[in-house]
Amino acid sequence: MFEFTDEQKMVQQMLRRWVTTVLAPKTPALERGELLPYDTMRDFAKAFGYFDMARGMFQRMEERAARGETVPKGDSDDSPRGDPGLQAIVSMEMCRENPGFMLAFGATLGLAGGAILGRGTLAQKKRWGLPILLLEKIGAWAITEPGAGSDAFSGMRTVARPTPAGDGWIINGSKTFITNAPYADTFVVYAKIDNGDGVPLETRPIQAFVLERGDAGLSTGKPMAKMGMHSSPTGEVFLSDVFAPRDRLLGEKEKEASREGARDVFHGERTGMMPMCLGIIERCLEDSLKYAKQRETWGKPIADYQLVQDKLARMYVARENVRNLLFKYLWTIKAKKPMSMAEASMCKLYCARVTTEAAMEAVQLMGGNGYMAEYGVERLARDAKLLQIGGGADEIQLITVAKALLKHGVPGTLGAEV
Ligand SMILES: Cc1cc2nc3c(=O)[nH]c(=O)nc-3n(C[C@H](O)[C@H](O)[C@H](O)COP(=O)(O)OP(=O)(O)OC[C@H]3O[C@@H](n4cnc5c(N)ncnc54)[C@H](O)[C@@H]3O)c2cc1C
Repeated sequence: MFEFTDEQKMVQQMLRRWVTTVLAPKTPALERGELLPYDTMRDFAKAFGYFDMARGMFQRMEERAARGETVPKGDSDDSPRGDPGLQAIVSMEMCRENPGFMLAFGATLGLAGGAILGRGTLAQKKRWGLPILLLEKIGAWAITEPGAGSDAFSGMRTVARPTPAGDGWIINGSKTFITNAPYADTFVVYAKIDNGDGVPLETRPIQAFVLERGDAGLSTGKPMAKMGMHSSPTGEVFLSDVFAPRDRLLGEKEKEASREGARDVFHGERTGMMPMCLGIIERCLEDSLKYAKQRETWGKPIADYQLVQDKLARMYVARENVRNLLFKYLWTIKAKKPMSMAEASMCKLYCARVTTEAAMEAVQLMGGNGYMAEYGVERLARDAKLLQIGGGADEIQLITVAKALLKHGVPGTLGAEV
């Protein structure tokens, strides 16, 4: 059976203490936008010796590159971002208290940092990846546009035109709903290449560029007001004749399979949501159990009523299933048998749905108190809803799963193609 190791469980206990004593007291100010999440991320990194670990990992990656070995991608167990089991525990523990904080953390390290460390040249990794890894710079990963979300590739209108001198590109367009955008220093921005060759916009190649705050023509909007995830600033990025020299093209070579880089990030986003879901469900279940035993109606604890027990039992079933999917995912990394995109979609679809349901049930179980901010579950329910939309909405995951089923059959059964 797959389990967290004793060492990972020990770190989990330390993390729980940090979350309770450092993050939780800051949550109200983070949620009101009075405090930005970035200094607290740095406090976390200092408290857990993360900076030395990150420097060590980066150095090993450089040495591997110097020996001409391929640098592993983000989902690998020797990726520059560290042990995937520990990454999952960090995400779970933070999401027990504040999923918005974790979203901002994941967007800089996992999405922006992951894209640069996974696809950049060594020079780009050093220049932009390492400062993100060390939290000296905050990253944002920008693909979504006002007219391109679920159809991010085909609907994309942001365009990069090669300069006549051939020394780079001029980028025009805009991005929206971008986590960390209002305060980020480094932006991984996707754009369609327009060589003036008459290829229709829908099918033009897409490339990723690394842009910086301060680049002429790049500006960002103020944080958008939203339903949940208030601890993570979300915003727009505007690109008006931004000059991107050749070294800003991620990987420095225009690739045929240019959409693969973004797909890797989609995969990481989907699997990365599982531990977030687990943290939210566990917190909702624990708080609901405690509440159900304490709150009395008609002279007995509400835990004695079967309709309340039904909620608790279903939350537990959801927790077990999400945990098993997460363990399966961690096992696939160990076994070097990466999950397909359809499997990642299946996991995200299931986990996000049951997490939102469980969090809403926790609100219901606590009645009026559940609706009050003081009890915390209403915030977890609002935050959980994003997990059904961001990183590909439920409907898109369903389509991905169904397409794979129709093409390959039921995975793991005799006669299936994969
Ligand atoms: C808080 C937050 C943070 C985010 N952070 C980032 C970020 O850091 N970087 C980034 O690039 N993006 C980010 N996003 C964007 C997010 O990935 C998109 O919102 C998401 O992919 C959905 O796109 P959309 O909002 O345009 O919805 P739409 O694509 O307009 O979809 C609207 C509805 O139509 C449904 N739909 C669409 N097409 C189909 C179809 N073919 N069949 C059936 N149903 C369909 C969808 O499932 C959805 O229910 C973030 C979003 C939010 C809310």
